[in-house]
Parts: sequence; C-alpha cells; structure tokens
Amino acid sequence: MTAGSGGLNRRERAAERVTQEARRCAEFLRARGDYSPQFDYFLDLAENGGIPEAMAEKTGRPVAKLLCIQVPVELVSAAGFHPLKVWSGSPAVSSLTVQGTPALMCPMLRAVLGAVGMKDETRESIWVLPTTCDWVVKFPELASREGRVFSPKMHWLELPHLKDGEHGQKRWLNEVYELKDFLESIGRRVDKKSLAQAIERYQRAWAALSRLSAMRKEGRLAAVWFMLIAGSFFSDSPERWSEAAKKITGSPALDPTEEKARVFLAGSPIFFPNFKIPLLMEEVGLYMASDDLCSSERIIPGAVTYRDSSLHGMMTALAERYHQGCLCPTFIDNDRRINNILGQREGIDFRGVVFHVLKGCHLYDIESRGLEGALKEGGLKFIRLETDYATEDEGNLRTRLEAYRGILGEK
Ligand code: SF4
Repeated sequence: MTAGSGGLNRRERAAERVTQEARRCAEFLRARGDYSPQFDYFLDLAENGGIPEAMAEKTGRPVAKLLCIQVPVELVSAAGFHPLKVWSGSPAVSSLTVQGTPALMCPMLRAVLGAVGMKDETRESIWVLPTTCDWVVKFPELASREGRVFSPKMHWLELPHLKDGEHGQKRWLNEVYELKDFLESIGRRVDKKSLAQAIERYQRAWAALSRLSAMRKEGRLAAVWFMLIAGSFFSDSPERWSEAAKKITGSPALDPTEEKARVFLAGSPIFFPNFKIPLLMEEVGLYMASDDLCSSERIIPGAVTYRDSSLHGMMTALAERYHQGCLCPTFIDNDRRINNILGQREGIDFRGVVFHVLKGCHLYDIESRGLEGALKEGGLKFIRLETDYATEDEGNLRTRLEAYRGILGEK
C-alpha cells in the first residue's frame, strides 16, 4: 500500500465502519420474528466471510476472484481454485473511492473498488473478468488509480453480446476454452474426471438452492433470508454451504393474519448489508415470492446437463448453460427476461413486478423501461425503483411502495 499515514487511517476508519455496518445488519436480522439459529451459519458468512485469505485457508484452495456470475465456476473449481464472486453491499467502503471515479458510478462496483483499495492486488491474486458491462470493463483501470496496486493475474472473458446465433455460441465456447488454458497455466490440468466432479459439486449446491427457492415461493421463507443465504454462497466451500442450506426448514414468513401482496423482484443485484429495498418492501406489505437477481435466485445459473460425457461434451454443455441460460441485460437478444417473468407467473402467482435499478447501472436502467409496457400488457402492476446504497431516499421509496401496495390491492 503506497498511501501515506492519512490514507492508512482513512482505510482503517472505513474498515471499522464496514465491520459495524455488517454487525448492525446481522443484529437487525437476528431480532426478526422469523429468525432462527439455522440462519447463523449464513449470518456469520455474510458478516465475516468474503475475505480471500480466510477462504483459501477454509477451502484449502487458492481463490480466483470473479467479477460476474457468467464465469463457469465448475471450470474454476476443476482447475483447483475456489471461485469467489466479488461483490459488496457496503456503503461505508464506498467512501474510499471518491477521487478518480465518476460521480455516477455503479454503487456495487464502487464498493468493490473500495474493498480492493484496502490492500494491494499483486501477482498472487487471480481475477477473471467477463466483459459484461462498461463498469466491469473499466474496473482494472479504476482499481489501479490513486496509488492502489492492482496487478493480479487477470483473464478477460470476452462476452459475445449476441447469444442466440451460432457465431456467438462458437465464440463463447472458444472463450471458455481460453479460460481453461489460463486456469491450467496457473493451476492444475482440467480433465474429464475433475470437470465431472466439479459439475457434480455445484449441481448439489444448485439443488439445495432450488429447495429454498420453492420454500420461499410457498411462503415458508422470507426473501430477506433467501437473499442472505444465496448471497453467501461463494464465501465457503459449496459442500459446507449446501449442507447448511439443506438444514433450513423454513420459517413462517407469511403471517396469515396479514394480507401481503405477492410480487416479483427484478433488476440490479442486492447484497448484504444493503437490504434497504427488500426490508422496505416487507414493511409496506409486499411478499417477494421470487426474483431474477444475479445476487439471489440466479447466483447459481442452474443445472449443467450433458449427454456427451467427453471433456468437449461437458465444456460445450457448460458454455451453453452460462451463456444461453443467462438473463443479463447485457445481451442484445434478451427476450428471455420478459418470458421468464411472465412464465414464472403461472406457477408462482404474483400480481406485480418491482424493478430495482442501481444508479449508474445503465443496463438494467435501459431494460426496465423496455419491460414496463410488456409487463403491464401482461396484466402485471409495475414499479421501477432507482436508488443507491445511501439511506437518504428511504422516505421517498417507502411512500412510493405504499402507493404501489395500494394499487396491487385493487381488483
Ligand atoms: S450490470 Fe449493473 S450492477 Fe452489475 S456490475 Fe454492471 S452496473 Fe453494476
């Protein structure tokens, strides 16, 4: 760290605020009526997890940091690394990035930048960056500003933005093979056996997450607990996380005396401790029956199924799962999101869509405006909430959500 004592103090103060912030949110969740000790493992991961050195020790594997869930984690795992999706819901750590970054920057990546600024990222650390959005593309440049050292072993996954065409799919498969070469150059060789085992490991985790998702849809697990559990997925080995997830028996989320309106939550990701939106939604009587956030229901993209068990067969299935199955608004041909929401409505029964947009998240901002008309035509009530990690807008958000709750009650 090249910063002077002033910089060091600033970082120490920010680190202290980050700890307090996480502790406050965890205490708040423990004080909820539907809290139970079965959530403690996940609260601990959220409060204290996410530290790469600690995770390398815990998992016995060097950590590979990912800036987006479009990186095939099974491949990272098969090469001997622990994949860590890097994220941050901390307003406090964002304060470390004021200089050198645009005023209107994605709050999630601004917080990650702040966290990265806490210590040097040298050749020991490993980063895989899919070219999802402009902020991700510019992340290394922003991260190496202000005297920070950001020179890890880094690999770009060039994302073809047309995913339904043969050309795009071929390019993506090639990208996934190049990722394999990169990982093998710094880790261990990926063969049929190690990749099949890694796919199996994450399949079990996905099955555990799907069980919790069903519990939530049935009103037996509040969205806030689901988001906490999903968001902590990368902070431990998939085995330990899956074992703990399987022990969740749910908690009476829906108070039968209280008429809550079921809604679907879409849009920009939401990470601990920034649970402002889901807690406000609960407060005004909205039940988030499901969502399509990359920080929640989509944290694990789904089961990777393959008939051809050759290495190439599995690589192809993996590439398909992560590309064609992805709902990210970065893609040009992305009807999947609207179809996904309208399709889920049949099975889950919700009356409206709450679309969360982080200020500076242009992709979801643009998409929200395109979706509104189609969802309303589909008979769904729609509200778009643009916000960031600050708390100043809580009053305004609450008023808008209360009004929205009101119209959901209308026949
Ligand atoms: S897609 Fe949105 S939330 Fe995700 S990194 Fe980009 S700007 Fe941030």
